[in-house]
Amino acid sequence: MATARLLFHSSYLCRPLTRQLDKCIFNHGGRYMSSLSVDNKENHLLRHLESRIKASGPLTVAEYMKEVLTNPVSGYYMNRDVFGAKGDFITSPEISQMFGELIGIWCVNEWIQGGSEGELQVVELGPGRGTLADDMCRVFSRFSQLKSKVSLHLVEVSPTLSGIQAAKISGEKNQDEVKLELSGTPHYYTTKSKYGQPVFWYQSLLDVPKAKMCYIAHEFFDALPIHKFQKTEKGWQEILVDLAHGRNADNKLCFVLAGGKTAGLSFLQPDSNDKRDHIEVCPEAGVIVQDLSLRVKEYGGGILIGDYGHDGDKTDTFRGFKNHELHDVLVEPGTADITADVDFSYLKRMVQPVGVITHGPKEQGKFLHNMGIGIRLQALLQNANAGEWKDMLSGYDMLVNPKKMGERFKFLGITSDDKKNYTPAGFENIPEPDNSDKNNVS
Ligand code: SAH
Repeated sequence: MATARLLFHSSYLCRPLTRQLDKCIFNHGGRYMSSLSVDNKENHLLRHLESRIKASGPLTVAEYMKEVLTNPVSGYYMNRDVFGAKGDFITSPEISQMFGELIGIWCVNEWIQGGSEGELQVVELGPGRGTLADDMCRVFSRFSQLKSKVSLHLVEVSPTLSGIQAAKISGEKNQDEVKLELSGTPHYYTTKSKYGQPVFWYQSLLDVPKAKMCYIAHEFFDALPIHKFQKTEKGWQEILVDLAHGRNADNKLCFVLAGGKTAGLSFLQPDSNDKRDHIEVCPEAGVIVQDLSLRVKEYGGGILIGDYGHDGDKTDTFRGFKNHELHDVLVEPGTADITADVDFSYLKRMVQPVGVITHGPKEQGKFLHNMGIGIRLQALLQNANAGEWKDMLSGYDMLVNPKKMGERFKFLGITSDDKKNYTPAGFENIPEPDNSDKNNVS
């Protein structure tokens, strides 16, 4: 089924857009890192965490991660632009316009496969700088059948990032103009994209109206809080974050074993037959993917999750990134990104009872080839000048090369089980182009 690839055979959207790639280096931890650092502010969050632990005891890693990333005052994502050349890491949509365009094509294809009826409502969870959303909107604007039928729904917890997203997507707003004060509506902000499509912002998926929708989550699930468990002679024990009390001369915080039963251990019940001696479980990811699947089952639509991750075989993947390098997750909390690989096998297990069909996880390189990235690259190169030509090729190489982002990053698709033999675009087993081509592109 190659509708998605055919959509790129037309010669629309041929002008290449410039993306800043020169400052990016690859880091083995999964993130693409940029070479400039964030400010090293006085650490308010550390003081807050110390008070919390003094008042009520050690925190679960999930509580710690949630505070570090999304504490309203000093959480990592809450008051700065963390992406791109001036941030801590770079994501696929920031690397090449082709990424967001192909995700947009995925949505259009889902709409076509659903009979080209009604509206195309796209939800993006964790839109970062809004670059993927902006690229998708541009793609949607080129389909005359979709005129006045597209709306975009963004789930974003960070006031700073929602301002950056609104500025990018509308093309005219200043990011400071985004005020999170709409009352009486489920969304906290709304504007129109450059192409006239209505765009809405929500704090949580729970606020997004239930309807037939395409759900996109790129590098969102890896930011959700995980619980960590260690196998000991006494069985599984939860790992907690405590005050170091001089146990570690450099760090104010340290990991400890809970000793007794915790709510996390009772509720999440790690499998005693699991061969690993250390596991990470992200119940919030389970709840969200179940909610998305229930929506798709009841109202239709599809889900596309892209992230770095594994299929239930990795152990300790919790890590931090700062100044384009690995960073101790317990040092200077709130000033560095902390993240854990997505366990795709857990997501698949969690949606099984809902009665939806999962597809993949498929490696990013294969997914993008199936989606027609080669065709798109050729079209863009035809209109590129020498500098753009180089950027396009290096962006393509970063996205698909198995040694870069092509294998480590994966896509999981979820569709309703009323389409029994349906394979969404990108997940087909299409033979890949000759690998030697990829290696020649640099
Ligand atoms: N999808 C983007 C950015 C990924 S980074 C890209 O590919 O470039 C994670 C994004 O999720 C950020 O926008 C962050 O602010 C947002 N986020 C993190 N935790 C969230 C939560 N609990 N609810 C909503 N958004 C969240």
